[in-house]
Amino acid sequence: MKRWNGWGDGSIHLHVPQSAARYLASVIGEGRMLHDAAWQEVVARVPPSSFDQLKYPLLETDAAARLLHARGQSLPDWIALRSGDLAAFPDAVAFARTDDDVRATLQFAHHARVAVIPYGGGTSVVGHINPEAHLPTITLDVSRLNQLYDLDATSQLATFGAGVTGPDLETKLRVRGYTLGHFPQSWEYSTLGGWIAARSSGQQAYYYGRIENLFAGGRVETPLGELEMPCLPASAAGPDVRQIILGSEGRAGVITRATVRIRPLPECDAFYAGVLRDWETGVQLVRQLAQARVNVSMLRLSDADETHANLMLAGHANALGIAQRALGVMGYGAEKCILIFGVTGARRECARVRRQVDDALRDFGGLPVPFLIGDLWRKSRFRNPYLRNPLWEMGYALDTLETAVPWSQVRETSNVIKAALRFGLQDIGERVLVFAHLSHVYADGASIYVTYAFRRAPTPHETLARWEKLKRAASHIIVAQRGTISHQHGVGVDHAPYLIGEKGALGVLAIQESLRALDPYGMMNPRKMV
Ligand SMILES: Cc1cc2nc3c(=O)[nH]c(=O)nc-3n(C[C@H](O)[C@H](O)[C@H](O)COP(=O)(O)OP(=O)(O)OC[C@H]3O[C@@H](n4cnc5c(N)ncnc54)[C@H](O)[C@@H]3O)c2cc1C
Repeated sequence: MKRWNGWGDGSIHLHVPQSAARYLASVIGEGRMLHDAAWQEVVARVPPSSFDQLKYPLLETDAAARLLHARGQSLPDWIALRSGDLAAFPDAVAFARTDDDVRATLQFAHHARVAVIPYGGGTSVVGHINPEAHLPTITLDVSRLNQLYDLDATSQLATFGAGVTGPDLETKLRVRGYTLGHFPQSWEYSTLGGWIAARSSGQQAYYYGRIENLFAGGRVETPLGELEMPCLPASAAGPDVRQIILGSEGRAGVITRATVRIRPLPECDAFYAGVLRDWETGVQLVRQLAQARVNVSMLRLSDADETHANLMLAGHANALGIAQRALGVMGYGAEKCILIFGVTGARRECARVRRQVDDALRDFGGLPVPFLIGDLWRKSRFRNPYLRNPLWEMGYALDTLETAVPWSQVRETSNVIKAALRFGLQDIGERVLVFAHLSHVYADGASIYVTYAFRRAPTPHETLARWEKLKRAASHIIVAQRGTISHQHGVGVDHAPYLIGEKGALGVLAIQESLRALDPYGMMNPRKMV
C-alpha cells in the first residue's frame, strides 16, 4: 500500500549502509532523529468537514480520505505530513468512475460555490494539489478513470481514462505489443492526466518524446461543459488547444480521457555507462551527441559530486575502494563523472548506437563501462526516491530542483545554483550536500537536475525555514540566469512567484485569460500556477 507520509509502496524499505551514514555525517553532520506523528494522531487532528451534513452520493468526507488527499510529495508536504501539522484539508473527496461523475461533481461544486482540485496520483512536488486554508474544496480523484477505451493499431493511438497510472497503462499496452515509453521517476504512482496537466518528462523522453509530443488529443470536462480535442497528426488550423491543457495544472478543468501516441514494443531496451575525466569534457560530449542527433533513448551525465555521492550512498565501501583505485591508475581521479545512456529499438540499431556512443566516449578520453553500472541504474530507476524515507528518519531532508538552459549557459548556471545551495545555510552554521546531473538533453540545451540534502532542524517550522531559504536562493538564480523555473515538475505554488520572470506580464495575462475562458468562475484549483 502507498505510504501516507513518504514515498512509495509501504512494504519497500531501503536500508542506508553504515558507510553511507558515515559519509553523510562527515559532509553535513550527524542527523537528528526526531519524532514523526503517527497516522492515528494525524487522522484525529483532521477537523470536521463543512460538508458533513450534505448528502451527495459521490462525496466522501471521512478524515482518512481527506488526509490522504491533502498533500503531495514536495518537501514542505513531507514536513507537514511527518509533523502532522497540515494547514488545510479538502472538505470532501469525490472518486469519479465515469465522465458523468466528473461532470456531476463540477456542477455540484459550481452550485455550492466550492473549489475543485483534480487529483491523479498525488505525486506533485510543487504543491499542485494542496487545498487552500479557508477555501471550501472538493478534491476530485480520477484514479478510477483508468480504462483502456480504444487501441487503434493502424494509427498507433491508444485512448485511456486519464487516471490510469504508469504501470497500469504499460501493462494494458504491453499485452497488445505496444508501449507509450513515458517513464518519469514517479511512474509507479503518477497518472496520464497528471503527466499532461503538469507537462511531465520521462527518463527516455529523448527517444519517445515528452508528454506534449505523446498527447494526441482527448476530452476535458470544464465548468462550462465538455472540451473535445480531436486527434490529428498535424494541423495549421490556428493555435493548438492542446497547448492550453498541457501544463494547465487542473485550472482548466478535468482531463477525463486522453489519446496518446504509442509504439510497438522495442526489441531492445538497454542502458550502459561510461566514465569521463571531468564535467567539462562530459558536457562537451553530450552536447556533441545531442547535436549529431545520435539515436540514443537517454543521456544522463552526473557531475563529479553526484558521481561520488551516488557511489558513497550505495555502500559497498570495499568494492568501491578497489574500483576507485583502478580508475585512479587509469587517470580518472576525483573529478570523474559518470554518463548513463540508453539504447532502444531494433537490436541491430541499438548495437550500432551503442558503438557510436562508446567511440565518442573514447574520443573524449572516456572509458566505456559495458556492464554493471547501466544495469544497476535500470534496476534502481524507480527505487532511488525510496531513499528519502530512511534518510528522513536518520534526520536528513532531501529535495530536488530543476531547470533548463541553452548549452552556452549550462556550465555557469549549474555552478551558480549549486554554490547558492551549498552555502545557503552558512549563516546558521549548517552545511548542504549538493550534486547535479544533466537529465534531459536537446540540440539547443539541457535540463539541470539538482539534488540537495541538509539536516532537519529541531522543529518542523525551522526545517521548513531552511528549505524556504534554499529554494528561494536557487529560484532567484534560475530566474536571473533566464532558465525555466521548471523543466518538468511544473509551477504549482512553489514556483508561482517566479513564473512572471519567465513569461513576462503579458505572457501571464495570456495564460490567465485562456484559463478563464474555460473556467470563468475561477473554481478549478484556484491560486495554483497564476
Ligand atoms: C519521486 C518523484 C519523482 C518524480 N519524477 C518525475 C519525472 O521524472 N518527471 C516528471 O515530469 N515529473 C516527476 N515528478 C513529478 C510528478 O510525478 C509529475 O508532476 C506528475 O506528472 C504528476 O502526476 P500525478 O498523476 O501524480 O498528478 P497529481 O500530483 O495528482 O497532480 C498534479 C497536477 O495535475 C493536475 N491533474 C492531475 N490529474 C488531472 C486530470 N485528470 N485533469 C486535470 N488536471 C489534473 C492536478 O490538479 C495538479 O495540478 C516526480 C515526483 C516524485 C515524487
